[in-house]
Amino acid sequence: MSDDHRVYSYTATLMGSPILLKLFSNNEALASRVFRLIKQYEDLLTVNRAPSQVMDINHAAGKHPVSVSRPVYELIRVAKAASLLENSAFNLAIGPLVKRWKIGFQGDSVPPADEIAALLAITDPVDVMLDDAANSVFLTQPGMEIDLGAIAKGYIADRVRDYLRKEGETLALINLGGNIQTLGAPEGGWSLGIKTPFGGADELIGTLNVENKSVVTSGTYERFFERDGKRYHHILNPRTGYPLDNELDSVTIISTNSIDGDIWTTLIYGMGVEKGCAALRARPDIEAVFVTKSKEVVVSSMQHFRFTLLDNRYRLTGNTV
Ligand code: FAD
Ligand code: MG
Repeated sequence: MSDDHRVYSYTATLMGSPILLKLFSNNEALASRVFRLIKQYEDLLTVNRAPSQVMDINHAAGKHPVSVSRPVYELIRVAKAASLLENSAFNLAIGPLVKRWKIGFQGDSVPPADEIAALLAITDPVDVMLDDAANSVFLTQPGMEIDLGAIAKGYIADRVRDYLRKEGETLALINLGGNIQTLGAPEGGWSLGIKTPFGGADELIGTLNVENKSVVTSGTYERFFERDGKRYHHILNPRTGYPLDNELDSVTIISTNSIDGDIWTTLIYGMGVEKGCAALRARPDIEAVFVTKSKEVVVSSMQHFRFTLLDNRYRLTGNTV
C-alpha cells in the first residue's frame, strides 16, 4: 500500500464494548467526533443506567406514554416490527428477562421456573404501543422493559457510516464490539476475521472479504455463564424465557445496513441453519455464515463476499459459489 493508504486506528470503550475506528488519514479530531456521536446514541438508548430515553419509557410502564426523539422512536418502531414477524426470535420487550438473568453482568443466576413464567407474561411486543404523531411509546403493562441490545449497535454503526460519508470520507471501518460497518474498500477489499467460537482471543475460523458491507457476528461464546455444568448464553428464546438452544455457536450476517445484520443475527438464532438458509433465499441482499457446534461452517450464499477457511478443524459447506 502507498503512504496515501496508511491505516490509522482509534479505539475507545463504549456500550460496554471495545470500539475500533479505522481511518485512512491521520485525523484524531474526526475520530473524537465519531466517538462522541456513539456516546450520544448510547446515552439515549442505554438500559444499563438511567437516565436515557429508553429508561424513561421503561420507568413509565403501566402508567403513561413517553415522547422520545425521532431517531429513538424510529428505532423502536423497527424493533417492534422485527418482533412481530411470524415466529420471530427477536423481541424488543425481552427486557425483564434480560435484567433477571443478568448474563454478561455481575450477579448472573438461573431464575426459578415460576419467575421466568411470570416475567414472560410482561414481554409481549404487542403491548408496546406506538403513536406516530406524538413520537411516543407506551408500555401498557407495569414492569415491562424495552431492551435494544440486539439492534442498537447495528443502528449506530449505520449512523457512523453516514456521518463519515457526510464528512467526505470514502474509506473507513467501524467495529462496535463485533458489529462492523464499512465505507468503501481498500484495494482487494476489507479482510475481516471471524473468531473461532470458544477459541483464543486471536484465533480465527476464517476471513471474510467485503466491500461497502456490514458484517455482524452474534455468538453464544462471548457473553455466557456456566452453572452446574450447563452453559447459559445471552440470546434468549422469547417463547420459553431460557437461552435459545440450537446447533449454532455463532452466526455472521453480511448486509448493506448493519441494522439488518443485527436484527437478522437474532432472527437466525431462532431459526437454526436449515430454516435460516430457507428464509434467506427470499432475501438475496442478506447473507449468512453459520458456525455450528459440530464444527461446520455453512454459508447461505456467497454473492457479496468471499470466505476463506483458516481453521482446519472445521468443514466448509453450503452455497459457496
Ligand atoms: P445480539 O445477539 O445482537 O443481542 C443480544 C442482546 O440482546 C442481549 O445481550 C440482550 O440485551 C438482548 N436480547 C437477548 N435476547 C433477545 C431477544 N430474543 N430479542 C431481542 N433482544 C434480545 N454492556 C455492558 O456490559 N455494559 C454496558 O454498560 C453496556 N451498555 C450498552 C449500551 C447500549 C446502548 C448498547 C446497545 C449495549 C450496551 N451493552 C453494555 C451491551 C449489551 O448489554 C449487549 O450485551 C449487547 O448489546 C449485545 O450485543 P451483541 O451484538 O453481542 O448481541
Ligand atoms: Mg443482534
